[in-house]
Order: sequence, then structure tokens, then C-alpha cells
Amino acid sequence: MHDFATQDRQVLADLADWMVRRRLEPMAVTPCDPEQLPAVGADGLGIEATWALLRDRILPSGFPTDHPRYLAFVGGAPTAAATIADAALSAAAVYGGSELEAGAVVAVERAAMRWLCDVVGYPDGAHGTFVSGGSLANLSALVAARHGRVATDGRPPHLIVAGASAHSSVRSAAAIMGCEVVWAGSSDHPLDRADLEAVLGTLDRRDVVAVVATAGATNSGAVDRLDEIADLCTDRGVWLHVDAAYGGAAMLSASHRDQFRGIERADSITIDPHKWLFTPFDCAAVLYLNPQLALAAHRQRAAYLDVVNEADGDNPADYAAHLSRRARGVPIWASLIANGTAAYADAVESCLSLASYAVKQIEASDHLEIAAEPHLSVVLFRRVGWTAEQCAAWSTAMRLQGQALVTPTMVGEQTVFRMCFINPLTTTSDIDSVLGYLESHES
Ligand SMILES: *Cc1c(COP(=O)(O)O)cnc(C)c1O
Repeated sequence: MHDFATQDRQVLADLADWMVRRRLEPMAVTPCDPEQLPAVGADGLGIEATWALLRDRILPSGFPTDHPRYLAFVGGAPTAAATIADAALSAAAVYGGSELEAGAVVAVERAAMRWLCDVVGYPDGAHGTFVSGGSLANLSALVAARHGRVATDGRPPHLIVAGASAHSSVRSAAAIMGCEVVWAGSSDHPLDRADLEAVLGTLDRRDVVAVVATAGATNSGAVDRLDEIADLCTDRGVWLHVDAAYGGAAMLSASHRDQFRGIERADSITIDPHKWLFTPFDCAAVLYLNPQLALAAHRQRAAYLDVVNEADGDNPADYAAHLSRRARGVPIWASLIANGTAAYADAVESCLSLASYAVKQIEASDHLEIAAEPHLSVVLFRRVGWTAEQCAAWSTAMRLQGQALVTPTMVGEQTVFRMCFINPLTTTSDIDSVLGYLESHES
């Protein structure tokens, strides 16, 4: 069962071929009835039949995030190098928790982390780790922010101050931590100093775990006023966490970088390479200005771990709420080494240009209009006269036909469409066809 046989080698060769072909050929989305799949039983089907099920029925039934017309949520379009490195990482059975076991794998993850620290403008001592997603990155940063602190009631602080556009994972982190979110500002504008002052002015700083600002709101793409927020957090002595899970990649764009000024003063930052830095799921980074604070909060201690902790290596397990882990920094490192950072900047710039193109086409259309000021690579727009039900029906029809994944969201009380461009392989004709389907659709 554990040895590779001839059939396994043939399947691996076919897998390699399929990995390339699925990119080159138009991506078809084909429904699969799970009832028709074989059940788990005492006797195995063999690898060839199993791979055929995966290749032909199961994997094609989802809408892949690297489909050029996957424009919903925040997708992900891994590079070839990242995909290959990710596959190799599984095959190599690497334990990514500690340097003792993972060897140079930890060094290359550290190099990828260093690059991210350079992108945000963090100094030499900054560090962090790669976790499963922005949600765990945010939770890990907030746990580090709270560690060892005492609030006015003698207990750990329990208030997390977040801008109104903060991601849903902040609320979930607060629930896990037994904390409460105090909302600041309003989702119709980026969080600024005055919004935050109005809230912090009513609180004792000792009760505040952290302020969470967002750099690239998931719904609108808006970047909070980080410079003003960092000033205030410094004045008040409050931990600033910047959630740049989606938007952080836009710092690679010379024309957008300025919007992020002040991020380098955050105590911790989240950036998801699996969103706009072209790695497979899952890979999110949590960065700390002072990693020792994170280590104090997160390092696990037990007799069986003494050998690891005493070796005093750089242990990725120490900086987040995890122990065993996939060495998720390897695919991003491999992709950076293979492609170079200039190609990364170009790819991010292409996505930003696609968003500008979409805005122009929408503005030129009689049936479509922009619903909110566009930010980064997010475009919010509406089909004039459509109800929420019509929007939902069109979106479902497009998905089931495998044409496009474009989903509705809300701006204020209104249902609108949202497109988010994170795939440089999306073309202007992809945009034209999506907008064309929308304009010509009889509702
Ligand atoms: C996507 C997103 C998250 C959550 O990241 P996951 O990787 O999905 O867990 C957090 N914050 C922001 C701003 C996001 O866009």
C-alpha cells in the first residue's frame, strides 16, 4: 500500500500532464452527483480508477479559483512553480513545525517571510509564519496582542476595536478568544483617525486587546487610513493589527503603494499569498514587528517538545495557534525564486489594469452602472433595475453553466454585483463576455 508500483508511476505521469492541460484548455465545469461515486469499502479500487474519478468527475465539478472568469469572493491563481512546489511538498512528507526536522525548508520559508517583511517595510528583526488562512493569521496576531496583559478588572483585556469593514474572521477570532468587538467608523468610508478616536476615547487602553485596521476590505477593496491610525495607536499605546489578507499584494504596485503608508508601524500584519500572491491554498502569512511577543504567546511546552525548544532553532510552530504544520512558505518561495519579484509586480499590475478596464466598460454601458468607488482590484456595480432575486438567479445560472462565477453582495441596503481581479490570466475579452451575458440576459 505504501510502495509506489508501476500503475502509480503512470498515474503520476498523467497527473503531470493534466496539471498542464487544465491550464491550456478551456476550463469546463461539469456537475457530479456524489451519490454516483463509489463508497468507501473493505476492498480498494486501485489507483488508476481512483485517479480517473478525481480527474474526470470530482475535480471538474467545482468552479476552480484560477478559472479566468472566477471573479467572485477573492479567488487564487497559483503559478506553475508554486503548484509544482506544493505537490513536491506533499510528496516529501515534510513536518514544517520546527527546524530540527525540516532543515533548509525552514530557511526558505524564512526567506519568503523576509520578502513579505520587506514588502511591508518591516525592519530586520521582524518575523512570522505561514498558516492556513487569513482567519488563523488574524486570530494568532490577536492572541499575541493579548498575551500576558492585565485589564482594569484584573483579567486579560477583552475588547477588540475594529473598523466597520473588517473581515468576518475578526468577529470569529473575538468569539474564540471570549472577546467583544467594538466597531468603529462606517462601511461607507475607510476607517480614519477621527472614527477611531471616537471609540478609543471612551475606552481604557488596558481593556483593549488591539485595533484591527483593514488594508483592502474584502467587500470594497478600500484601504483604511493606516498612517493616521498608526499615529493614534502609538499615542495611546494600543497594539495595531493590519489585516491586508487580500490587499497586501497591491503594495507591489508602484501606483498603489502609497495608500499603505503606515503599515510598517503595525505590530502585526496578515497577508494571504493564496489570494493575490499566486500560491495554491492554503497559505496565509502572519507577520510580527516583534516576533518574541508572538513566541511567548504561542510556543507550546511539553516534555516531548523540550528537544525542539532547547535546540532553539527558528520554529515556525512558535508564531501562531498551531504545532504540526505544512511548510506553506515553500510554494511562495519557489514561485518567487522561479519567476522573480519583477514578474510578481507585473502580475499584480495586470490585475489592477483589468479592474480599471472593467470600470470603463461598465461606465460605457447603458444597462450597468458603478455602485461604489472602485478600490484596488474590486469593482462593485449593478445591473440597472434588477432586484436581489434577479441578481441571484443570473449568478446561479452563470455558475451552473460554467460560464463565470460572479456573485452578488451588498452596498448599504442594495444588492450589487462584485468582481475581484486576482488572476493575470483573465483577459479583457473575459470581462467583455461576462458583462455581455449580463447586459443581454432576459430576466
Ligand atoms: C479573505 C480574508 C480573510 C480571511 O482569510 P482566509 O484565508 O479566507 O481565512 C481575512 N481578512 C481579509 C481582509 C480577507 O479578505
